[in-house]
Amino acid sequence: MTNDTKNFRIDVDAAVELIRDSMPRYASVRLPLAKTQGAVLREPVMAERDQPPFDRVTMDGIAVRSAAVAGGIRRFRVVGIQGAGAAAVAVGADDHCVEIMTGAMLPADADTVIPVERIRPDEEYVVLEEGYAPAARQFVHHRGTDHAAGTVMMDPGIVIGAAEMAALTISGRAELEVSHWPDIAIISTGDELVDVGEPLQAFQIRSSNDRAIAAALERLGCYSGRRARLPDDPDELRAAIGRLHAENDVLILSGGVSMGKYDYVPQIMEELGAELVFHKILQKPGLPMWFGISVTGKPIFALPGNPVSTLVCAARYVIPAIQVAMGRSPWPQPRLRLAESLTFNPDLTCFMPVELTYPADGIPLAVPKPTNTSGDFVSLAGTDGFVELERGRDVFPVGHPCDFFAW
Ligand code: AMP
Ligand code: MG
Repeated sequence: MTNDTKNFRIDVDAAVELIRDSMPRYASVRLPLAKTQGAVLREPVMAERDQPPFDRVTMDGIAVRSAAVAGGIRRFRVVGIQGAGAAAVAVGADDHCVEIMTGAMLPADADTVIPVERIRPDEEYVVLEEGYAPAARQFVHHRGTDHAAGTVMMDPGIVIGAAEMAALTISGRAELEVSHWPDIAIISTGDELVDVGEPLQAFQIRSSNDRAIAAALERLGCYSGRRARLPDDPDELRAAIGRLHAENDVLILSGGVSMGKYDYVPQIMEELGAELVFHKILQKPGLPMWFGISVTGKPIFALPGNPVSTLVCAARYVIPAIQVAMGRSPWPQPRLRLAESLTFNPDLTCFMPVELTYPADGIPLAVPKPTNTSGDFVSLAGTDGFVELERGRDVFPVGHPCDFFAW
């Protein structure tokens, strides 16, 4: 299939749709809870018990019967002490109390907690502060008020982060059905590329794309990315890409997809039997991006080598596509407003690096941080991500709303 006949120079929305429709849907696996950070939950999770599982005291103080205070009792004999993690003791009588700690189970025959600040000890008694009138049920987080046992606490499709990890522990489950990141080969192509730690000649450069993509993935809990560097040599590319394809579920390449004599990647993909899905997107940076599906159905993302293009395409297309394949539910893209006006070529979607700024009202604005070229990746350091400015207009005024993508 040649570029002239299939999906050549398409727009951003068409590219997103084609990728989404071509991606595989990964099966779920059962993983220990500790291994699920960054994975997508693939089953509904129920609360193991009522949450909270008992009437949980939320203040250090004493537990008493509120009716006893309402009836005029101001002095209570301390008959026990009750901390978190111990079975409840009983108060036993109207003029008795139990010294109680935050996190403890409220005694079954008491209904309120009086904080330690409102009482004064008097030998084996405590005396209430003058005039203090506790409400019934105060400072108690009542059993089952957050969730009832057996109700669905979390739906499939959610990405497991810190808050989800905390909630999942109350399912009591040691293992969960999730989809984790597939095995990903991150392949930099180019004769000029040298890794950090190796000596450089004048005409060579450090390979930054593979490290940048690996960092973007690791930020999301994906540690399966393996980096490789390949020369602009068709035989070596064919052999190495063939091997990396066999060993991984996703290939992310950078470099070698433009019009140069040494841009062999699309040709090699064709030779390896991959089906071209599209080549070139009406966008800047990143116009030459290539996407295809291998003979065994694995996605192949071949990104332009310019480091700004690589990072933008990884964040805009590659990472969300893999998360959808993992079963992630649709999510709204955060939107921001421009802090400064911009003009741009209306023929192309613009991906503009931005730094977030927080004016007096604390609501962030996107400050454009244009790079010199799509090779100027040093200017990206310290930016927060980029915004997408739609094709078809050339002036974007201050306050213009736009989708924001974090790096
Ligand atoms: P290409 O897409 O192969 O034409 O590369 C475009 C530009 O990006 C060239 O200046 C390359 O040297 C540069 N480049 C390609 N791959 C990398 C990489 N892994 N790290 C940094 N720069 C790269
Ligand atoms: Mg190259």
